[in-house]
Amino acid sequence: MLRSHTCGELRLSDVSKEVVLCGWVQTSRDLGGLTFVDLRDRFGVTQLSFNMDTDPVMCEKGRQLGREFVVQAKGEVVERSNKNKTIPTGEIEIIVKELTVLNKSVTPPFTIEDQTNGGDELRMKYRYLDLRRQVVRKNLELRHRMAIETRNYLDKQHFLEVETPVLIKSTPEGARDFVVPSRMNQGQFYALPQSPQTFKQLLMVSGFDRYYQIVKCFRDEDLRADRQPEFTQIDCEMSFVEQEDILNTFEGLVKHLFKTVKGVDIPEMPRMSYADAMKYYGNDKPDTRFEMRFTELNEVVKGVGFKVFDEAELVVAICAKGAADYTRKQLDELTDFVKRPQIGATGLVYARYGNDGSIKSSVDKFYNEDELKKWVKICNAELGDLLLILAGNAEKTRKAMSELRLEMGNRLGLRDKNTFSCLWVVDFPLLEWNEGDTNLLASLAGRWVAKHHPFTSPKPEDIALLDSDPGAVRANAYDMVINGVEVGGGSIRIYNKDLQAKMFSVLGFTNEEAQKQFGFLMNAFEFGAPPHGGIAFGFDRLCSLFGGADSIRDFIAFPKNNAGRDMMIESPSEISEEQLHELKLILRQDEVKKN
Ligand code: ASP
Repeated sequence: MLRSHTCGELRLSDVSKEVVLCGWVQTSRDLGGLTFVDLRDRFGVTQLSFNMDTDPVMCEKGRQLGREFVVQAKGEVVERSNKNKTIPTGEIEIIVKELTVLNKSVTPPFTIEDQTNGGDELRMKYRYLDLRRQVVRKNLELRHRMAIETRNYLDKQHFLEVETPVLIKSTPEGARDFVVPSRMNQGQFYALPQSPQTFKQLLMVSGFDRYYQIVKCFRDEDLRADRQPEFTQIDCEMSFVEQEDILNTFEGLVKHLFKTVKGVDIPEMPRMSYADAMKYYGNDKPDTRFEMRFTELNEVVKGVGFKVFDEAELVVAICAKGAADYTRKQLDELTDFVKRPQIGATGLVYARYGNDGSIKSSVDKFYNEDELKKWVKICNAELGDLLLILAGNAEKTRKAMSELRLEMGNRLGLRDKNTFSCLWVVDFPLLEWNEGDTNLLASLAGRWVAKHHPFTSPKPEDIALLDSDPGAVRANAYDMVINGVEVGGGSIRIYNKDLQAKMFSVLGFTNEEAQKQFGFLMNAFEFGAPPHGGIAFGFDRLCSLFGGADSIRDFIAFPKNNAGRDMMIESPSEISEEQLHELKLILRQDEVKKN
């Protein structure tokens, strides 16, 4: 080895040892007679010291070092007179006796320190330099720990890690596939997996019983902030289980991760039906770090001549604790907030329940104090609370109120990143009507599509509704939600060929189409498929949540930008004409003539 120690390990107890360190020059300070260099590697930073009086030749060498030079320094560990308590090696320094420049560096495009001056794009272009920064590296260290602890837990539970192929066939799971042309099978394409869904089910047919994989998945979705076209899942499947078994096993996994990685004990995770999540939070991934549940006011507000409420399908309120003293300006801001096109409400009604017991609303013209008292009562408001009310079409109003609730959560400081509130949302609808989601193929518009995926089992008691009222069929499907983020989701699967065929027909597939795309799975179901179910966690997102960050990018070594581009290797990129010819994606002149 070119070194005896790392830059993170020397302490006072090492004083007077002769050591050799290797690393990058982070900073260099020339204080006249003394020169100090901070030498950095993955493990930390150690101060090198050069003295003009005692060793002028060496000191001159030290002064020549530029930022990010790679050096090897031999010397003696001494106690520092000026100690730096903020770093673990801050009590010692190295008096350098031999110095070798292993490699030079040009001046980096941004400073490689916790607080950098590099903008996003620049740091993405030079990601390998960004990864030298401690803050970024720490995120990947966390990711590593999460992966190790996931494997530890699942291994103890007898899960087998099995790799499934990356070049597969299109299995639509709600998004578009990335496809790869096949040179050897001209005109044909592989697809990259949106998830290993069908393979893990086939592994259950094979009798593997418990499978997992920390695996890359690919989805060609419209660009949205913080979406990556390739991302990583902890993908799992189990045989001979019911929904409860899966919830318990994977609640165990997440608790284990919190305990071992963060030292946090998570209490038993509550279960909330999809219907309740929508009714009380307007959202299938409610942030339950704070209450502020919806109260429906239809019964107490209608019939006094206030048209907005009289004509509304839904009038709904949230009660913001202690916010009755919100100023006119703050209330105007909230009104502007809900009127933004992304939120789409037409206005906001409020009622202040003052500390003196008075109630003042923005609709005092229509409602007297007795009537307002009913609102206060039904919302369980206390003195000093503020009621915020939206009205209109039920679905849109719930959605808008959900946004307002989260905004109020932020304003009132109720969404602390170091508090973790986990729950299961269960009983999702099996199907949803697709009006024309741009993330789906246009041919799927005006059809029922699977809310989770087509392999999800309906609740047995709802199967009869598949023909008469498909939208009312509930699925044995569940999501784990932490702090308003869906971190994982899965379902109990269909394992009967006929029910699977029925599901495809409800989804608008002809028998031939279903057979062509999914014949392999339905055939496998004829060879003794066990009851099974599973789940997949978004690993990048789970890591960012554990790291207290909003962006998953910070937890991926080489992420793509918001336009789906890798700025460092400049991908996607064009390919040569020769490659296009070989793949028969374009024809040569002579081939055109032949055709
Ligand atoms: N394959 C599903 C997904 O990627 C997860 C599952 O049902 O296990 O969302």
